[in-house]
Amino acid sequence: MTEPVRVRFAPSPTGKPHVGNIRTAMYDWIFARHTGGKFILRIEDTDVARKKEGALEAIMESLKWLGLDWDEGPEVGGDYGPYFQSQRLELYQKAAKKLVEKGNAYYCYCSPERLEALRKEQEARKLQTGYDRFCRNLSPQERAAKEAAGIKPVVRFKVPEQGQTRFHDLIYGDVVFENSIIDDFVMLKSDGYPTYHLASVVDDHTMKISHVIRDEGWLSSAPRHLLMYKALGYEPPLYVHHPVIVGADRAKLSKRHGAVALLDFRDMGYLPETMFNFLTLIGWSLDDKTEIMTRQQIVENFSIERMGKTGAFFNMEKLDWMNGVYIRGLTIDDLSEKLLPFLDKYLPPEVKRPLDVNYVRQIVPLIRERINTLKDAAAYAEFFFVDKLEHDASKFTDKKTNAETALTALKSAEEILSSLDSFDCDQLENTLRRLAEKLGVKAGQLFNVLRVATTARDATPPLFETMAVLGKERCMKRIKAAISRLGNNRDS
Ligand code: GLU
Repeated sequence: MTEPVRVRFAPSPTGKPHVGNIRTAMYDWIFARHTGGKFILRIEDTDVARKKEGALEAIMESLKWLGLDWDEGPEVGGDYGPYFQSQRLELYQKAAKKLVEKGNAYYCYCSPERLEALRKEQEARKLQTGYDRFCRNLSPQERAAKEAAGIKPVVRFKVPEQGQTRFHDLIYGDVVFENSIIDDFVMLKSDGYPTYHLASVVDDHTMKISHVIRDEGWLSSAPRHLLMYKALGYEPPLYVHHPVIVGADRAKLSKRHGAVALLDFRDMGYLPETMFNFLTLIGWSLDDKTEIMTRQQIVENFSIERMGKTGAFFNMEKLDWMNGVYIRGLTIDDLSEKLLPFLDKYLPPEVKRPLDVNYVRQIVPLIRERINTLKDAAAYAEFFFVDKLEHDASKFTDKKTNAETALTALKSAEEILSSLDSFDCDQLENTLRRLAEKLGVKAGQLFNVLRVATTARDATPPLFETMAVLGKERCMKRIKAAISRLGNNRDS
């Protein structure tokens, strides 16, 4: 290959991009960066009916969030623009006209009703559905009559009735399609808009695309495209079709499996570094064992040869694990900063806003081992923030500790803790161990009771660290509340 690498991501603006589409964009970007080529963003917006408000923004936001910067396309321009297909209609119309003139395409006047009836009949007779080439050989007089009747035609490609279309896919290897199973597809609609096939071929050619990387769902489009390339006299690009992402049930990853849009993963608290690493590895691997790789390592080591033909599984547990690894790789300051918006969103409304960043920084070391997503943090850390705890009286007691012992322990703890002037971990530990001895209870018993009093939970980060972060004032208030909870409980 002497031509420079130019790859394109060509989404249709139909909604928030699916992780599968974004993974295609990632392979484009990685391949471009690996080879020193160009990554182009082209918006395929000619299907007016499927266009969605905000979809273009969501596409660009997804790419930017993952750090996939494009060298040409919306916002940045480039020498091969415009990069919106809706602004390139003339190019497609010219190509369609050229093919009609060369005898490789023809005008078709069939009404939607006729096509619908044809399809139904083919289905009823269990035949392959497709256009029956009714208008392929209209005489000039017949055509003139249709035109005179004001029927606006579509342009169909004249697919050879015999022979095969073959190509070499860089992942799937040699692929052969019988031309006889390809029908005369529409290239240009009656309103002058191209179909995907025509627009894609014209643009990949005029934008000098070297490799078309896309999912295997488009594999069956490739022979149509190749037939058009040949008819137009264009050199085709190289094809790289990769498997679509599937869930554990081997079905294509869809809403049925849970979240599918990249931005939804962002909103659930997955880091871009995780998504980049995780999505790359669904379908490519360095050596079948390395899991955690930086973006730079991936770019340096990437090769199409190591992209898989099968097994593009989306493993949610692996994603959670990997996100946990990336979370724990962040500095406390960085993680705190990233957690703030999630805490702000998911902590109960009664917690005072704005949240205190310094307080969050103290909590982070205590919870970061336990969270796999940024969203998880609110549930783990809630007791650090709420003003009033709901103490469950039954949590204070267990096999060894009855309510009486718990109450006595709490009262003594209250007294001794209120005399401390600061709550640091060592001091708390020494003081409370001595207290346990004095009370003649096991240290663990006392600590459990205090854990429940200060957090209302029986499982928390280490007690003394937790109490130190909560601070004396909060702890004393909570211990008092626990005493009255237990006292009332006993009286009732
Ligand atoms: N617009 C198509 C899509 O939405 C592009 C397919 C291709 O890459 O050729 O995925």
